[in-house]
Amino acid sequence: MAAAGTIQARCLKMLRAKARPGVTTEELDLTAERFITSQGAQPSFLGYRGFPGSICASPNSMVVHGIPGGYELRRGDILSLDVGVTKEGWVADAAITVPVGEISPAARRLLTTTEAALHAAVEQARPGNHLGDISHAVQRTVEADGLSIIRSLVGHGVGREMHEDPQVPNYGEPGRGPELEPGMVFAIEPMVNSGGPDVRVGDDNWAVYSADGSLAAHFEFTVAITENGSRILTPWHEG
Ligand code: MG
Repeated sequence: MAAAGTIQARCLKMLRAKARPGVTTEELDLTAERFITSQGAQPSFLGYRGFPGSICASPNSMVVHGIPGGYELRRGDILSLDVGVTKEGWVADAAITVPVGEISPAARRLLTTTEAALHAAVEQARPGNHLGDISHAVQRTVEADGLSIIRSLVGHGVGREMHEDPQVPNYGEPGRGPELEPGMVFAIEPMVNSGGPDVRVGDDNWAVYSADGSLAAHFEFTVAITENGSRILTPWHEG
């Protein structure tokens, strides 16, 4: 999974550098697909329940599951880039939300807080803690900044399959839920609206939007519980 995660993180960093005004999400999708296959790996999302892209590309009020296409990025957009990589049967899943050129202070704050919530969650990912400690860390960080957790979308276990038990909600009570043990691996993924917490599904039956049209952000790591704490297997934040 670490091998899959290394490829995954390199792919996200490549897409982050490429997400400039005038670029289409379809071009980003092609970049990702070429890179992942060049590494002897497969894009996990392609064909998953019929999904037609290698990545999910979700701009502005779109939270997740955007099908890449002709949408041309504009200065001031924010764009969630979600990529799954399968290497020798093991999956790594992670996401970042990137600014396209200069963005508004409110958009900047949404990105900063959502990423901070992910890091706060990782700090709770260690043996002896419980799943609820991870969930609560996300909720506390997001709500302290007056932003909204999307409760209907959750993180998940990950391994041979992209989506494994248990679900990892972005809200919860400390000390509740399964106890964390070395060898468990989770995709932790805060999904946050700048407005209200509700979402709606688009006409393509994939894209999920904030119901009120407010900006949304999404950051995700695949994280393994280890004897000493945890290890981020998709280190897109490094280098
Ligand atoms: Mg995920």
